[in-house]
Amino acid sequence: MATLPQLSATPPTEWQEHGLCRATDASVFFPPVHFEHKPEREAREARAKAICAQCPVRLPCLEWALATREPYGVWGGYAEGERKQILLGKRRAS
Ligand code: SF4
Repeated sequence: MATLPQLSATPPTEWQEHGLCRATDASVFFPPVHFEHKPEREAREARAKAICAQCPVRLPCLEWALATREPYGVWGGYAEGERKQILLGKRRAS
């Protein structure tokens, strides 16, 4: 289980160099500029989350996304709406 980060601090980002997404098409992690139907979004996010699940820096990535209120994309295995639920205390990070 991840703990919520210190939201007042700007976390270091050296971990980004080790993210598996660096070798992956960013379009898997971020929504397209055109409208994306729910089944398409869910499939894309599932692909991204599968990559995140294998990523050695998933937890610092998630902590960074939460601390910076990253508004778009899948970070640390969580999509934007899921991160918002974590920040609101409506969902637990794991
Ligand atoms: S957890 Fe996911 S989004 Fe974060 S660095 Fe790893 S692959 Fe990229």
